[in-house]
Amino acid sequence: MKIRYLGHAAFEVVLDGKRILVDPWITGNPKSPVKVGDVSADIVIVTHDHGDHGFDDAVEIAKKGATFVSIFEIATKAGEKGAKDTVGMNIGGPAEIKGLKIALTQAFHSGTANPTGVVVIGKEGSFYHAGDTGLFGDMKLIGEIYHPKVAMLPIGSHFTMDPVEASYAVQFIRPEIAIPMHYGTFPILTGTPEKFQEEVRKRAPETKVIALKPDESIEV
Ligand SMILES: [Zn+2]
Repeated sequence: MKIRYLGHAAFEVVLDGKRILVDPWITGNPKSPVKVGDVSADIVIVTHDHGDHGFDDAVEIAKKGATFVSIFEIATKAGEKGAKDTVGMNIGGPAEIKGLKIALTQAFHSGTANPTGVVVIGKEGSFYHAGDTGLFGDMKLIGEIYHPKVAMLPIGSHFTMDPVEASYAVQFIRPEIAIPMHYGTFPILTGTPEKFQEEVRKRAPETKVIALKPDESIEV
């Protein structure tokens, strides 16, 4: 599994030979290393419909052949905007999409449709992208049921968890690797990866924190 950070909450993951984009906010993202015209994917996932999570760019990417995956109402809207292959789901057990298992999870946030996180499971690995969310105790169940190898967690504060809360999330989920996201893009998102690392060391020292810079990747 190869994970590349595209800045803010956007990731490109190659898993079992499939290219997956999550929350591909590219146009207008000051941290994006790519242009939407240069990006393609097999699957594009949008956790919720706030502008900084890439609905519009995801539709563009879906028009080039990616399967658009999101909660039912957002997937329907993507279809209306021209995405040809959409899978509208809801929070619950996984669906099989292009050979991968994809489950939407709850997220404590807002949006015109219910916001979600997402778990993606392949043969080579698995990850949990929490979307935008506050802390909630049932993250423990996501860890118990899916054992995601990697967790991408928002740490910016104000709209989501801060580094302290996100370290409790790591304690609940117990991934091998935690990647912080949704910080530093705007001055209001004050959480730092250094503080997150420090807090994770206190509560879940067996989890490795890897703060990727935009365009950096890891192979796990
Ligand atoms: Zn949001």
